[in-house]
Order: sequence, then structure tokens, then C-alpha cells
Amino acid sequence: MSAKSYVNETLDLIKRVSSRQPIFLQCATEVLKSITPLLDLNKQYEEHAVLQRMVMPERTIIFRVVYIDDKGHAQTHFGYRVQFSSVLGPYKGGLRFHPSVNLDILKFLAFEQIFKNSLTGLHIGGGKGGANFDPKGKSDAEIMRFCQAFMSELSKHIGYSTDVPAGDIGVGAREIGYMFGAYKKITSKFDGTLTGKAINWGGSLVRKEATGYGAVYFANEILKDNKDSFEGKTCVVSGSGNVAIYTIEKLHQYGAKVVAISDSDGYVYDKDGIDLELLKDIKEVRRLRVSDYANEKKGAVYISKVNYEKGTNGVWSVPCDCAFPSATQNELSLEDAKNLHKNGCKLIAEGANMPCTLEAQKFILDSGIFYAPAKAANAGGVATSGLEMQQNANMTSWTFEEVDQKLHAIMKDIYTRTSETAKEFGFENNLVAGANIAGFKKVADAMIEQGYI
Ligand code: NDP
Repeated sequence: MSAKSYVNETLDLIKRVSSRQPIFLQCATEVLKSITPLLDLNKQYEEHAVLQRMVMPERTIIFRVVYIDDKGHAQTHFGYRVQFSSVLGPYKGGLRFHPSVNLDILKFLAFEQIFKNSLTGLHIGGGKGGANFDPKGKSDAEIMRFCQAFMSELSKHIGYSTDVPAGDIGVGAREIGYMFGAYKKITSKFDGTLTGKAINWGGSLVRKEATGYGAVYFANEILKDNKDSFEGKTCVVSGSGNVAIYTIEKLHQYGAKVVAISDSDGYVYDKDGIDLELLKDIKEVRRLRVSDYANEKKGAVYISKVNYEKGTNGVWSVPCDCAFPSATQNELSLEDAKNLHKNGCKLIAEGANMPCTLEAQKFILDSGIFYAPAKAANAGGVATSGLEMQQNANMTSWTFEEVDQKLHAIMKDIYTRTSETAKEFGFENNLVAGANIAGFKKVADAMIEQGYI
């Protein structure tokens, strides 16, 4: 059959067997539709049923997590680990703690992770996990008890050569610490099973900064290719968590000014540029909201979500040269993309996973805005996790400069590979196609080489 029919048949299969998983379907649609030219040239992928096998996780673990809150009440949550693909190495991907977490979201994240990890050039497979637990407003003791309860089950399914989780939304250094402590207690093993660890006990320098720095390194390659730079550019970064903060830090180092940030309650416009030290103190130390930033920073304005225009996400109405969606999936709609274009935005680089809807993505690609898709642009986090695994395995620690140089080199390499692949298949400047084809090919070839497992 034609590649187009093969793709449509596979998407129909997903619709049938995963009918209540629209986010996973969205992600699979983007990947599969853009690899059609490769499938046309290589019939062996269809002959070996690669697509049907690839869209099915190798293993999905769903478990109950019970912890005691500060009032002495038992609280129950769903815990998950989606071990999607191990053809390139141990499953690797973060853990997300957020009330919206469900199997659909984790399957999308784990599927996306397969191709992202492939692009890094490291030997890591794709996985993702988490729980529908909201860390916001919980005490430290509640977070610790939750992490311990979560790990009491997850520890049975992970290991440094089988599955190596890391952080994601709601899981930062504190949560990784509590989970690692529990893992060690349960298994009696001190090994590199989790990444994102603290520096003093096995973590890597630059891991905290890696996703944000990596996104800016990647975007900078696009600008350089077009004889431009970040110097003097006005930027908007959505979110105000780990990825957003270190995107802002690198943008500032490159001479850009970030004028807006957000969280799920609203956004801040700061015409003088975000004060990064204040933001870090508010988010990383005091664990407050962006509204608190506006209260403490002279000249900054807070716009609450209740005032957003219907159907648009307020932060994208702020005029900018470059936009870095760094909060969550589907946070940038078609209307937002049109708004950004109308206001003169020239580059969109995705720090978050799948932050643009399919309609927004199509508009951005057609509009000529430079577009750095997530699986390439935000691969710096997992790449540095890979570097953390290498340091753990060799019982060594590299300096900040050494890790940063390696990260920078990996991001440049991902850019070169995605842009060259895009050109090779006739999609000049379409890095979505370039990243999907390059990421897919390596995984698909390995699946054929390893037989039907
Ligand atoms: P954090 O938990 O540190 O921060 C998430 C930020 O996004 C918070 O400011 C949060 O606001 C905001 N946010 C979350 N959900 C929504 C929503 N529905 N609407 C608006 N804002 C929202 O997570 P990270 O910074 O680690 O992750 C951000 C994104 O980057 C995610 O898509 C993640 O998958 C992706 N990513 C992260 C990597 C990493 O190394 N950490 C690696 C690669 C990708 P609030 O506090 O109100 O919830």
C-alpha cells in the first residue's frame, strides 16, 4: 500500500484501540504524517510492521499510590510508568506530578521521548511516568511521603540499565531527592537509576539548566544560519518553572530581553526585562507564583487568567521577536500563533513538549516563522541526563564548563542533523519533518535489526 495509506491505517488503529487518548493521537499524527516521504522510499518499514509495533508501548504500569496527609488522612492517587521503547537503550524520560496526569498524556510524552532521545545520539530508549498528584500547596513532609509511596512501587520496575526516570512538571530536585532516598532504602543500591540528582550525591552540573540552555542553543543555530543573533531581541517565555527560568538565563547571556512569563493562573509583563534573581528566589526558594513577582518588582504588571480573551492564552498577546513556549502541551493555539505573527514574531522555539496545537503548528510552518520543534529544541535536558548517567557509570564528575560544552555540541549536532534531513527530503526549513524523520529512522532500523520482540 502507499505510505499515506499505511500511515492512515496506523492512525485508525490508534483511534480504535486508544479511543480516549486524543493527546497521544495528536502526537502520533504529527510524527507519522511527517515521515511519509521516508516510508515511500523504504518499503521494509511496512513489511516489518514497524509503525504498528512502534505506536504500542512495550509495557505500561499503572499502580495505586497511597500516602498520609498532614491531617492524618489517607490520600489515593494513580501512579504510572509507560515504558514505550527500549530499542536504543534503557527507557529514559521524566516523571510528571500534576493533577491532569493520565495515561493519554503519559503515552504522548513517552512516544515523543523515543524520537527525542534518538536525536541526542545517546543510547537511551523512551519512557515517561508520573502521578495525578498536585504538589502545589503541599507541605514538605507531604511531598516526602508521597514520593516514598510512589517509589515503593516504581522501584520494582526501574534500574540503571533498564529504566532511568528524571524530573518533569512538578518534579524537581526536591522530589528527585526524596525518590532517590526511597529507591536506595528499598533496593539497597546506590546507582544512577534516577537523573536530576543533587550535585553532592551523583548529580551532574548543568542538568538543572540543560533544557532551557539547550533550547536557546538550538534556536541560536537557526538565527546564526540566517545571519542573525539574539542580541537586542525581545522575547516572551511562557511558564516560570525549570525550563522557563534557564531559558531566560541563557537569553539574557545572549543579549536578549525577556519581557513576559506566566503560570497557570496568569502572566506578568515586565517592560524593563525579567529580574532573574528575583524570579529564582520567588520560584525556586519561596515556591510562590508569578503574581508575587509582579507585587515585588516595580513596573511589572500581572494579568490574571480570568481576564484573558476567550480562546487565547494571554502571554502570547505580548509583542516579541522570539517566543519560547515552556509550560505545557497545547498551550499555544492557532489564535495565539496568528497573534504572534501579527505582532512580528520571527522565531518560536519549544521548551515544553508539544506546546503548539496541530493547527498552530501548521500555521507557523506556513507563515515562515522560524520554528524549533520540541523533540529537537528541548532535547538538552535528556541529553544532559545521559551525561549524568555516563558520569555515574564512570564514578566521575565533570566541571560545569565540560558539561556545558558537551551540551552545546549535542544541540548543534541535533540542529545540523534535523536541518540536513529536512533538506534531503525536500522540506527545507521544516525542522518538524527533519526531526521526525531523523529520529524515527534510527529507531525503526534498530527495530528491524532486533527482530520481532
Ligand atoms: P515545572 O513544573 O518546573 O514548571 C512548569 C511551568 O509551567 C510552571 O510555571 C507551571 O505553572 C506552568 N504550567 C503547567 N501547566 C500549565 C498550564 N496548564 N497552563 C499554564 N501554565 C502551566 O516544569 P518544567 O519547567 O520542568 O517543564 C515545563 C515543560 O517542559 C513541560 O512540557 C515538560 O514536559 C517540558 N520539558 C521539561 C524538561 C526538564 O528537563 N524539566 C525536559 C524536556 C521538556 P503552575 O505552577 O501554575 O502549574
